[in-house]
Amino acid sequence: MKKFETQAIRTQADRSHNREHSVPTYMTSSFMFDDAEHMRAMFAGEAEGNIYSRYSNPNTDELVKKVCLMEGAEAGFTTASGMSAVFNSIVPFLKTGDHVIATRAVFGSTHQILTQILPRWNITYTYVEPEDVGSWEEAVQANTKMLITETPSNPGLALIDLEAAGEFAKKHDLLFCVDNCFATPYIQQPIKYGADLVCHSATKWMDGQGRVLGGIIVGKEALMKEIQVFIRHSGPAMSPFNAWMISKSLETLAVRMDRHCSNAKKVARFFDENAEIKRVLYPHHPSHPQYKLARKQMKLGGGIVTFEVVGGYDRAKAFIDEISMISLSSNLGDARSIVTHPSSTTHSKLSEAERLSVGITPGMIRLSVGLEHIEDIIGDLKQALDKTKIKAKVTVS
Ligand SMILES: *Cc1c(COP(=O)(O)O)cnc(C)c1O
Repeated sequence: MKKFETQAIRTQADRSHNREHSVPTYMTSSFMFDDAEHMRAMFAGEAEGNIYSRYSNPNTDELVKKVCLMEGAEAGFTTASGMSAVFNSIVPFLKTGDHVIATRAVFGSTHQILTQILPRWNITYTYVEPEDVGSWEEAVQANTKMLITETPSNPGLALIDLEAAGEFAKKHDLLFCVDNCFATPYIQQPIKYGADLVCHSATKWMDGQGRVLGGIIVGKEALMKEIQVFIRHSGPAMSPFNAWMISKSLETLAVRMDRHCSNAKKVARFFDENAEIKRVLYPHHPSHPQYKLARKQMKLGGGIVTFEVVGGYDRAKAFIDEISMISLSSNLGDARSIVTHPSSTTHSKLSEAERLSVGITPGMIRLSVGLEHIEDIIGDLKQALDKTKIKAKVTVS
């Protein structure tokens, strides 16, 4: 079997008849058949091929095939957004009266699915602490069907011990779902540890340039058959153009992640040595509370550095206002570095106590470290810290 980087580049859809070296975009809603018998066989599932782009398309098929090779999965689906991938990884496997266990500190919209949507069908949830798999036993009920996790978490970078979580899920016969967006398959492959379903927001590092939305679900073939009913008939299809774009981006995922991660590691080191920073979180920096686990299950530390400035909420906002190059945006996983202040934006609807329970303090800032030169990234951070300095200089008179 070819290596990760080679699969990412050499896995391609069948070419059309014009000898294109780069796979074309198949911008077509439907496909044609040779004759009535061929069409019958296609609809009966007796012949291979595409019928209608809500079901499949050569560009989305190429993307699925690539991500399956990267994650070590059997089959998968693309969706229009990451959230549609999360939703379709969960809902096909639940019915009224079921219960799920989810690690606290899941993505904001995943929290909304658990708290606002599933209760309409009388599906209940229990949150457990991501760092402490031992405590999850208490959450198991007779009707528990699924374990829903995300590692590293957004924005607190809490890790789940995938091996322990896989054993827990197996022991209690739970479907184990991992949102692997923050790691990408280059850094971590949850299926190795027993995950049944892996979902992604391809909007982030998979596209990597902040251009398109997309989602992907991969896992065992039998599970994908269950998901197929939902995907085909509720229609969250990914555009062939977006699939083409993301598939092209995956050709450079490994080199981009190498640079995102080496830049992020340098930023973490800079913060660690700076008196204006109260705390820095980066999985591959020794100060991370789960550093050993991060080294074990993550090839690299990822592209996000979360840090807390001295001076809390007001300082964090003042710091962001002094940033000159780095973008102020809510996205992440872009070639451009981006800062976000979770407590006044993405997590502002939570109460202070809820924010603290998921590790979000008022002075916390999430930095998605981009691919600019490291000296320019650190230079921008440094000048903004200097301009908003709190720690008064000790002057000797
Ligand atoms: C962004 C994100 C999502 C949602 O993805 P969209 O493409 O924005 O719908 C889900 N999970 C995680 C961890 C994310 O970062």
